[in-house]
Amino acid sequence: MQIALNGGAPLRRQEFPAWPQYDSTEEDALHRALHQGQWWRMSGREVEAFEAEFAAHHDAPFAVAVTNGTHALEVALMAAGVGPGAEVIVPGFTFISTSMAVQRVGAVPVVADVDLETYCLDPASVEAVITPRTRAIIPVHMSGHFADMDALQALCDRHDLILIQDAAHAHGAAGRGGRKVGAWGSMACFSFQNFKLMTAGEGGMILCPDQETRDRVFLYANCGRPAGDRAYQHVVLGSNYRISEFQAAVLRCQLARLDAQTDRREANAAVVMQALESVPGIIPQAHAADAVRHPHYMFMVRLDRTRYPDIDRNRLVDALVAEGLPAFRAYQALYRIPAFHLAPTCGINVETLARQCPATEAIAADAVWFHHRALLGTPGDALDIVRALEKVLAAEELLAPVAA
Ligand SMILES: *Cc1c(COP(=O)(O)O)cnc(C)c1O
Repeated sequence: MQIALNGGAPLRRQEFPAWPQYDSTEEDALHRALHQGQWWRMSGREVEAFEAEFAAHHDAPFAVAVTNGTHALEVALMAAGVGPGAEVIVPGFTFISTSMAVQRVGAVPVVADVDLETYCLDPASVEAVITPRTRAIIPVHMSGHFADMDALQALCDRHDLILIQDAAHAHGAAGRGGRKVGAWGSMACFSFQNFKLMTAGEGGMILCPDQETRDRVFLYANCGRPAGDRAYQHVVLGSNYRISEFQAAVLRCQLARLDAQTDRREANAAVVMQALESVPGIIPQAHAADAVRHPHYMFMVRLDRTRYPDIDRNRLVDALVAEGLPAFRAYQALYRIPAFHLAPTCGINVETLARQCPATEAIAADAVWFHHRALLGTPGDALDIVRALEKVLAAEELLAPVAA
């Protein structure tokens, strides 16, 4: 069979549902924000309303909206008092913002490995890298799958550490017992970048477990200035991380759609998982029973190298894209990215870190992810993930590494 990468007909000629999704409710919201005549949070109503709605949706007492998810992590770290001299433990497998935010506040990111099945932080690996300088742990709910929060919280309690959730993939997610992101007693940072599960192109949010944390987060995000101040008081070294009224107006509409979209993605993901059981050599990211609500920011699979030792993962992604799938390479291991080794850095070389993170190595090298819009159509659309994998894997010899 000819695959599309080699000039054959693509599996899909029809696009998956577009992302982002919007309709006249976003248009109306933008007009509403426009006609307030005031477009920043200090005199408009949209940001405050969005914070209240987003907090309630995630069972958090408070929320502060900011410019983007990277900044959300920076502000949360600053509000937690994490700075120079501190170490912060992050998963080796994540988007760069998780560690770059740590560096931006002057602290040292220290990587721990993830679990090979769930792709989320492995508590045993975290424990192995705790030192007297460790101040915080940032688990990522990878692709929306909840990290092992109980084990990580227990580590934090035992070692007097701060837990900050990187929830950039986890809008509407719930962990053990159905507990949502805001119900775990820690700050949680979200992104509203264009790809994410809700979006205004850019945007971010920090859920806060209590009023005191909320007020400190607000200060850092507002040039160090308390709300209502008229005397130019700037009491901490913050910056301007404020989001605009237009973004918040759009995000209120996006939040209203989240539950229905999540229902659809969960149903379609279950269909795809089931179908993949009969595809040897493809291992999907596991869905543990205590990840009760999994919004599936990404649908991730990895090659079983015992079955497919010779496939070039990047060619596999190219082949899937050619078939009409929104497929991407998995993130690089953090410690293989140059910025990770710029100061402040742990100073440990790549080879040593790679040895400490075997699961991160395997996932980063062998995983492929599909954007969640592939799960937003019919079950038949979603099954094209499986059909495309089967089609291109049948042409295994065409997916070998190309000589440079
Ligand atoms: C997208 C993302 C971020 C950063 O969000 P931005 O809004 O793009 O700055 C942080 N962490 C993870 C895991 C992400 O995927």
